[in-house]
Amino acid sequence: MPGASRRRLALRAGFQASALSLILSGAGWFALRSAGIDVRLPVFVWITAGATLTAGMLTRFYVQFAVSRRIARVVRVLDVYARERSLQRLPDLGGDEIGEIGRAVNALLANLTSLEVQMIEQDQELRSTREELALKRALGEKTAELEQRLRERALLFDIVRASASERELDSVLAEIATRLGEALKLRECMLFLVDAKTQRLTLRAAHGFEKPGELLERIVLFDEQPLGKAAKTGEIVVVDDLEALSESSLWEPIEQRGSMAILPVIHRGTTTGVLAVTRSETSAFSELETGLLAAISDQLGLAIRHTQLFDELRRGSQHDDLTGLGNRRLLRIRLEDELHRAQRFGEAVSVLAIDIDYFKALNDRHGHPTGDAALRKLAGLMTRNLRRIDTIARIGGEEFVVLLPRTNAAIATKVGEKLRSMVESTAFPGGEEQPEGALTVSVGVASLHSDETGADLLARADNALYEAKDRGRNCVVTASQPTAGSARSLTRSRI
Ligand code: GH3
Ligand code: MG
Ligand code: MG
Repeated sequence: MPGASRRRLALRAGFQASALSLILSGAGWFALRSAGIDVRLPVFVWITAGATLTAGMLTRFYVQFAVSRRIARVVRVLDVYARERSLQRLPDLGGDEIGEIGRAVNALLANLTSLEVQMIEQDQELRSTREELALKRALGEKTAELEQRLRERALLFDIVRASASERELDSVLAEIATRLGEALKLRECMLFLVDAKTQRLTLRAAHGFEKPGELLERIVLFDEQPLGKAAKTGEIVVVDDLEALSESSLWEPIEQRGSMAILPVIHRGTTTGVLAVTRSETSAFSELETGLLAAISDQLGLAIRHTQLFDELRRGSQHDDLTGLGNRRLLRIRLEDELHRAQRFGEAVSVLAIDIDYFKALNDRHGHPTGDAALRKLAGLMTRNLRRIDTIARIGGEEFVVLLPRTNAAIATKVGEKLRSMVESTAFPGGEEQPEGALTVSVGVASLHSDETGADLLARADNALYEAKDRGRNCVVTASQPTAGSARSLTRSRI
């Protein structure tokens, strides 16, 4: 309480006390007069004036020193607390109401202080909880990032593993496309091989399409944007919004929605393929992810080259150099497969054993190169006139075996006869000087019996061929079906 108002309060109390004393003096004067006691007025006035002044003065001083000073202390302590949150408390202000006010103020200040301590503690707790949460969030983000890196590594490892397997290129590419599609949650994933000479891309593996099998082998020309652009320039192409492309520039099986990333597959500076991936959202391929895809496409370059080399090697080890036909190894592999299939599904399978008649005579008369040319021509003739699923193998100098899947003895005999007559009517170098007036072949035919092996089947075809030679050559002989248990007794297998 400011000093001026404290003084005002004391003055007011003094005046009130003086007024009260005046009234009491007046009342006393009247009481004395009524009791018949004569008090002289001037004396009374002086006494009254003195009493009034004294009462006023005393009251004023009492109020100023006893009451308002103590209140001022209360106010000061509250003031200091409000400004500085000080721990200062009031001393005992006595047993009267002001003393009680002082005690109540002390209790209030104590409560406020402990409330403040609680608030500070809660604030600290809140801050540390927030920090903990932020740490947890950062840890979660780091863990997710680490998991993503691990997934990417696993993906790269899978691609390396797939490409190091001994399977054919198409099956390797199909596995890679599927693995990529699933691991990176792609809508579509396509792998094209590039033929720079013809400026064409050929789809060799697809994932995410309704009928991917029907799309395989489809061709995209280099001038078709943007697939062709990646193949032509060897640069990564990212299309953030496929809808913004003109319809004709997008390869038609790809849904024109979302985004696409196209990565050239480069091996030793040559673009050998194109990896194209799509997602349904626009701008779905970040720079980070394009980087990963680029690493994958590098690996793909190696995978493609490795598998192509492996294919070439396998071709070399299973094919005959002179004619390009299969050799004994390929025949053995295909025969095993076909026998397995025939026995499993109850299908027929037949073989033709073919041998050129009097070939030694041709060689002797015209020399080996002419003989070689005749062998190559015969190989071409057979390849053109048989089905893609048939296997033609050169198993000796001028001896061949044809494996005919899903073909019974009657049809195989017709096929053998067709080949024989075709050879007879085809002009071969030096053929007209052969004993028959043309180059001819003898053919032995055998059809699989349920309980025989591949070697047994070939042995029966070989026997039939010898029978054809015995019958005067340039003819077809079909082996009769073996009686039960006799199939294995044939021994003249040459495979
Ligand atoms: P046949 O009618 O009984 O089969 O008589 P052939 O003369 O055809 O049979 P033979 O087994 O007596 O002779 C096979 C000849 O095939 C012997 C060899 O000079 C020839 N020959 C084997 N391999 C090759 C080859 O790679 N190139 C050439 N030009 N000739 C070959
Ligand atoms: Mg011969
Ligand atoms: Mg022979």
